Amino acid sequence: MNNTNKILVIEDERKIASFIRRGLIEAEYEVDVATSGQEALEMVQEEEKGYTLILLDLMLPDMDGFDICAKIRADGVQTPILILTARNSTEDKIKGLNMGADDYLTKPFAIGELVARVKALLRRGPSVVDGILKIGDLTLNTKTYEVYRGDKMIELSQKEFAILEYMMRNEGIVLTRTMIEDHAWDYEFDSFSNVVDVYIRLLRKKIDDGHKNKIIRTVRGVGYKVKT
Ligand code: CA
Repeated sequence: MNNTNKILVIEDERKIASFIRRGLIEAEYEVDVATSGQEALEMVQEEEKGYTLILLDLMLPDMDGFDICAKIRADGVQTPILILTARNSTEDKIKGLNMGADDYLTKPFAIGELVARVKALLRRGPSVVDGILKIGDLTLNTKTYEVYRGDKMIELSQKEFAILEYMMRNEGIVLTRTMIEDHAWDYEFDSFSNVVDVYIRLLRKKIDDGHKNKIIRTVRGVGYKVKT
């Protein structure tokens, strides 16, 4: 079920690490454990390990969890990071999120809650660094609503932006017309509506026209995807 998802647990306390490991394996995830910051950073950098999520304890013997988080992001790794912290202060949580973490969980926690958070983060897909989604030379800023292809700014309507953001959050995944409709519109269309195709055509004109590399791809008979 979830066996393609590999999670790196960075936690030095053996008891907690094995408690988490057991819970995640039961939920059908693959799990690796790192017990120091140094070890964790090396494991994250090994691309073939292909972690889809990182659980990070803030208090490690050799390194501060905040620094690890910042280093991972500085290396361009966009894997979602869930911080585990015994510290209960709001400042720590904000600091963690500012350092590029995606969510946090305060110790002690129930394993069910951890699994629920992990699932939610994995649904969300790759972490958005500073609110910017990037595919090749196409960037979309979810905070300022600016879209660039290379250094050319692209003006999009609200609807076009919503569709493009949804597609970029699901990079490489084929999205059916129904999925795109459900995401971008509140109401239901009659099944003969080709409104998604119309919007895709508009987006292509703005994003791909004049470029050799086409980012928006048609998957015949199924739908669309964005890809470099
Ligand atoms: Ca610890």
